[in-house]
Amino acid sequence: MNYSFEPIGVIRSPYREKFGIPRQPSLVSAARVRLELLPPYDHPDCVRGLAEFSHVWISFVFHQTMDRGWQPLVRPPRLGGNAKVGVFASRSTHRPNPMGLSLVELVSVSVDNGVALELAGADLLDGTPVLDIKPYIPFVESRPDAAGGFVDGPPPLLRVEWSEAARRHLAEADAPAGFAQLVEQVLAQDPRPAYQDDPERIYGVSLYCYNVRFGIAGGVARVLEILPAA
Ligand code: SAM
Repeated sequence: MNYSFEPIGVIRSPYREKFGIPRQPSLVSAARVRLELLPPYDHPDCVRGLAEFSHVWISFVFHQTMDRGWQPLVRPPRLGGNAKVGVFASRSTHRPNPMGLSLVELVSVSVDNGVALELAGADLLDGTPVLDIKPYIPFVESRPDAAGGFVDGPPPLLRVEWSEAARRHLAEADAPAGFAQLVEQVLAQDPRPAYQDDPERIYGVSLYCYNVRFGIAGGVARVLEILPAA
């Protein structure tokens, strides 16, 4: 049996490429994304009552990686990139059915010009197709005593510093509100692949229309430049 689904919406996100996106939602609370509902789901009736919930589950398609298929075993970054676990014991993007599930904060619902949700803390790439939205129900879905397997607890954070040049670029840029906080929270997560530790290396992460250049050495991420994206 095959089933086919169509997107009910699309994500507009500051994350313009996979590199730098946090590995789970809520780790970067400064990330604001907009979920725009598509016709015929962009009717105010479809979201009536939703604004009373503080958090929603977003089901979506890993559209950018789905053509790479899947493997029974994956190497989660939290295990250092070497140890393997089963695909169904992981949140890997490479799955038999390339679907993701993220719990995010619902900031607002707008029905003025089409229907759109403003969401905080999402781990979603710009252009991500959304399959469903469901309200989060704390009394059944919150499990503070649950076992977290190999991902028990948040990852350690890096300290973030700004170079003089980066501060100047930030002051000169016409960046959206909260941009500096977004940069700091993204870099604090240490976006490098698990196996990379080269203090000389310069990385670039795309946020909105900017390329944020940075290096990481001795547990400190240093913002070097903020350039217009190519
Ligand atoms: N919270 C979701 C889940 O558990 O299903 C996603 C977890 S997955 C490990 C998070 C990563 O998915 C992000 O770091 C980003 O690299 C990737 N990602 C986000 N949106 C994507 C998309 N549309 N296509 C492919 N990869 C995506």
